[in-house]
Amino acid sequence: MLEVFSIPMRTRFRGITVREGVLLRGPSDADGRWGEWSPFLDYDAAVAEPWLRCAEEAAAGDWPAPVRDRVPVNVTVPAVGPEQAHAIVTAGGCTTAKVKVAEPGQPLADDEARLEAVRDALGPAGAVRVDANGGWSVDEAVVAIAALDRAAGGLEYAEQPVASVEDLAVVRRRVGVPIAADESIRRAADPYRVRELEAADIAVLKVQPLGGVRACLRIAEDIGLPVVVSSALETSVGIAAGVALAAALPSLPYACGLATVQLFHGDVVVDSLLPVDGCLPTGVPAVDPGRLAGLRASPERVAHWEARLAEVRALRQDRSS
Ligand SMILES: [Mg+2]
Repeated sequence: MLEVFSIPMRTRFRGITVREGVLLRGPSDADGRWGEWSPFLDYDAAVAEPWLRCAEEAAAGDWPAPVRDRVPVNVTVPAVGPEQAHAIVTAGGCTTAKVKVAEPGQPLADDEARLEAVRDALGPAGAVRVDANGGWSVDEAVVAIAALDRAAGGLEYAEQPVASVEDLAVVRRRVGVPIAADESIRRAADPYRVRELEAADIAVLKVQPLGGVRACLRIAEDIGLPVVVSSALETSVGIAAGVALAAALPSLPYACGLATVQLFHGDVVVDSLLPVDGCLPTGVPAVDPGRLAGLRASPERVAHWEARLAEVRALRQDRSS
């Protein structure tokens, strides 16, 4: 069984204002579980295929046993002014903040002011990380990371300061702050490339693009880097898969980037995965048929997603024949 959802977003993210995706219902012997398949609209069938594996794994109820019952998460601070940044951190209830920096058109001084405000709101014990989404050149990154480390009174790490994995390796050798790879890890082979080049101290893993919870757990074991689990902007059904990975990792030294449901105007489950005391609970959220019905996509969009799904299944058929 298949349901297509369409959820308006509170702010534009990744150029989109509406998040669409599919919920797949598992077999009845899997307790009526659901999995989320929500590859972005610009992804072709080959890229979207591992995303489907993640959904199928979830719908089959095939997750590894958790070793913890809650997962610490960060509050995310967009590239806003200092007053707003302060308010977001205070309202977020998390002890770790991820702050967006290197926004095109904004000077470094804006990032520094935002970081100072975030530190003020978090207090000295909180952890502050920055995410540049690959927005700096190598030289810009070296200067900016040092400046932001000072402004924040110490950075936990800097995420994807530059776009390419080769440049990431160069920056890592020139700064004292640990480096995390996010956009450099999009396909299953990517984490191994990051390890090979010693390009990062931390790997950001997302369960859908990398083929599911068990696939990510294997990658985490192989690469020998601490892992931060992040979302791909999913409903609580998709977020639960990320939480399942974070809960199954033998060690979880950093808060995860899984508190993103609040970016949506609506959700498909009874109890949304929103942070309580800076953590998300592990487990399988129950889909709410009424809420899902209210977010159902138009017949045209349902047809679009059915065609996408058929394309991925045809690709699998080709590969196996
Ligand atoms: Mg990132």
